[in-house]
Amino acid sequence: MSFVREAVRKMEGYIPGEQPQEEGYIKLNTNENPYPPSPRVVERLIEFLSHSSLALYPQPLSDRVREKIEKVYGFPREWVIVGNGSDELLNLVFRIFAGKGDVVAYPFPTYTLYRTLALLQEAEPWEIPFPDDFSLPGEFVTAQANLKILCNPNSPTGTYVPLGEVESLLRRSSCPVLVDEAYVDFAPESALLLLSRFPNLLVARTLSKSFSLAGLRIGFLFAHPEVLQEILKAKDSYNVSTLSQVGAEMALEEIEYAMRNVEKIKNTRSWVTREMEEMGFYVYPSQANFVLVRRGGQDLRFLYEELKRRKILVRYFPEWPEYLRITIGADAQMEILLHNMREIIEGVA
Ligand SMILES: *Cc1c(COP(=O)(O)O)cnc(C)c1O
Repeated sequence: MSFVREAVRKMEGYIPGEQPQEEGYIKLNTNENPYPPSPRVVERLIEFLSHSSLALYPQPLSDRVREKIEKVYGFPREWVIVGNGSDELLNLVFRIFAGKGDVVAYPFPTYTLYRTLALLQEAEPWEIPFPDDFSLPGEFVTAQANLKILCNPNSPTGTYVPLGEVESLLRRSSCPVLVDEAYVDFAPESALLLLSRFPNLLVARTLSKSFSLAGLRIGFLFAHPEVLQEILKAKDSYNVSTLSQVGAEMALEEIEYAMRNVEKIKNTRSWVTREMEEMGFYVYPSQANFVLVRRGGQDLRFLYEELKRRKILVRYFPEWPEYLRITIGADAQMEILLHNMREIIEGVA
């Protein structure tokens, strides 16, 4: 494939979690919400399809979604770009801020898509290890880079950096700092509270996790209007489908519905954490809708594989074999998971 750019030939592609085609799995591997989205979102989509045409292009800037965003998050339309999932928005940020040879710094381990996006730009990923407690690495705060990314709460660890520390990161950084807040609705506070004071801050949010709409593909990127003006130059004109815009508008009216599900997931998270600790796992303190667990230094592939055989999918990262990342599902799903984990572990012992 000598006609493919060398940078692309030499890199690995991002590998998403498994999405099995077969039915019947308890799916705890890609942090989807176990609860369905608000029924009003579905009703609105059906109603739209029966009265409107898909022959026309969608609004290029998702204006009606942005009106709802202003009501919910308090930022006028010039402060936000709506994307086809927040992955699209991460992509745009890399294209705008990371050129060939530029340095993109982020604490590690984290969402491995950042590495892929950096390598595509021929930029250099600088992966700064988290300390054992997954607090913000001092080296990251002071790093000289062209772009810094903080996933907060972080995936796959679930750990959360308090806003005071995010603020000192912003003060100490002269480059743009992207805070990826895919899981922030499960955590105490959002970096949006800092946005008006820091022109180098960009905040990415998504409806995929807390709003149960991973299939709709909607993300938001918040930043100062002058920054977003530059980013818009690289955006596809019609990046968000008409149906996704219609669904997102309604989802943003159904905040209370989503937040009730968030509360349920947080309660399940506390209970599952205690149960797994009793089974001898170390469970990292999570502010997300998943937990990262380890059992001493044991390779947990056997547990992942045996659970999969029993039709329960959790996330095993070959890069980090001592850990499993487990999405918090509904109580009944987690009962089944815990029961099977106990059986498997007792069988091995
Ligand atoms: C799920 C996730 C995303 C992607 O969200 P989409 O809006 O579905 O594209 C981005 N960042 C992190 C850390 C995630 O876990």
